[in-house]
Amino acid sequence: MSNGSYDVIVIGGGPAGYPLAIRAAQLGMKALCIDGWLNRDNTPSFGGTCLNAGCIPSKALLESSELFHKAQHEFAVHGIGVGEVALDLKKMQERRAAVSKANSGGVKLLFAANKVTGLFGFGKLLGDGKVAYTSHDGKEEVFTGKHIVIATGSEPVNLTKIAPFDGDRIVDSWGALEFSEVPKRLGIIGAGVIGVELGSVWSRLGAKTVILEALPTFLPMVDAAVSKEAARQFAKQGLDIRLSAKVTAVKTTAAGVEVEYDSADGKKTESFDKLIVAVGRRPYTANLGADVAGVALDERGFVKIDAHYKTSAPGIYAVGDVTGGAMLAHKAIEEGVVLAEQFAGQKSEVNYHAIPSVIYTSPEIAWVGMSEEQAKAAGYEVKVGSSPFVANGRARAMEAMAGMVKFISDVKTDRVLGVHMIGPYVSELCAEAVLALEFAATTEDIQLTMHGHPTLSETFHEAALAVDGHAIHSANKKK
Ligand code: FAD
Ligand code: NAD
Repeated sequence: MSNGSYDVIVIGGGPAGYPLAIRAAQLGMKALCIDGWLNRDNTPSFGGTCLNAGCIPSKALLESSELFHKAQHEFAVHGIGVGEVALDLKKMQERRAAVSKANSGGVKLLFAANKVTGLFGFGKLLGDGKVAYTSHDGKEEVFTGKHIVIATGSEPVNLTKIAPFDGDRIVDSWGALEFSEVPKRLGIIGAGVIGVELGSVWSRLGAKTVILEALPTFLPMVDAAVSKEAARQFAKQGLDIRLSAKVTAVKTTAAGVEVEYDSADGKKTESFDKLIVAVGRRPYTANLGADVAGVALDERGFVKIDAHYKTSAPGIYAVGDVTGGAMLAHKAIEEGVVLAEQFAGQKSEVNYHAIPSVIYTSPEIAWVGMSEEQAKAAGYEVKVGSSPFVANGRARAMEAMAGMVKFISDVKTDRVLGVHMIGPYVSELCAEAVLALEFAATTEDIQLTMHGHPTLSETFHEAALAVDGHAIHSANKKK
């Protein structure tokens, strides 16, 4: 094989692309990963949206703002006096940037350790197994690949007609991670995952935050009992979430942004210093050459794939956000790894019924599988059980009693259909629920599993017991 020929060429070095290249190389394939990400300072880095402007920097700020909030409002309960708590936003933002940089720098090291060729620049499909590469300084080269994979990810939806991003007053999630001052009044369009996570960050740091959501239901993908508790907790924290709020006009002024919206009580107007638009993400395929290579896109612009990630063009595959479905980093990683293993002739597949979802608010929200509403709509006869963290000794010791775990199980088979939770570290407890679904566990399997005391996982156990009315440490619901 000449230098310009590879077994696998991946376009895009985010959570879908870089693990694919690494796994392919581990399995003996010659792998190239081309990534075009440029940071604000024009430095390139691997890791895509997730490491540079998504999962990692948002979690860094969520952690810092949570500590700030705790120092101000919760330490005193533990008998700790800290005097006046000061915010050094510049330092907080420097830490956020350093956390991202360390993670994306790690990808470069992993490429070197696994003998993956990683190139910064733009990749374009030419058809006939060829990819044109243009480096950031304009050098061009054509590579040949036996397998070519599109892993180009997604970008924020821009409400161009109502509230186009201007990088100053009206920003996307990336812009909202980089505010250099805490806005006094912050508006957010969209009470989805980004809306509530970034709303939490800036509200904890002092922004008076209003979230406008078009739908009448809050977090409709989560079990209704969990979303109801989330709405209650967020309202207590001062997050002003307005449902059925349809934004009709946005005007930037010297003083800020004026947002007009229709609500159940008629037309309303609010003024903000900054407005974050977080109404979803769409596939990114700009200048990719999909048409030239014969790669079909669906009506929303996602790359069409079959069950083995094959596009309509022979030898070209696609994984991650650009293919649609759950736009989550761990789903993208699994798809990348599985596709590399399929290239090597292995029978790997992704279990799309066991994808965990986490919202990193406080309390955290996490779930896997069906909610009670979804299970009933799918025709299951369900039995449910829940247990509150207020009955958990560890949660009480942590002063984190808000929330609960809810099991949704099948009456006929006793199989666990879903677990939906809100509470302390449920992002971590969710791994046990994912394992339960992956291993097709029955509710009894969980009931018979001993959990350490005192741990938060006891609430998980208690919720499983509650499904059959056996909970010991919390009241069982009367049948
Ligand atoms: P991306 O990460 O978007 O990577 C695609 C890469 O391809 C980019 O680097 C892009 O520059 C590059 N590229 C595009 N076109 C070309 C081309 N032609 N040539 C070369 N390179 C190209 N998910 C979670 O699971 N957990 C979270 O906590 C979480 N938090 C998030 C927070 C925010 C604020 C946002 C915006 C997203 C978050 N996500 C989270 C979603 C997660 O970031 C995405 O699901 C994930 O990054 C998708 O991975 P990907 O590899 O498909 O795409
Ligand atoms: P989202 O789909 O989660 O939420 C968008 C919200 O905006 C929805 O509730 C929708 O009803 C609302 N909306 C849409 N148009 C509107 C309008 N014109 N006016 C008012 N509301 C409107 O999308 P997002 O929050 O932008 O996040 C994008 C993606 O990033 C998601 O797919 C998510 O999975 C991913 N993400 C994941 C995490 C995580 O896993 N913790 C964190 C952040 C982002």
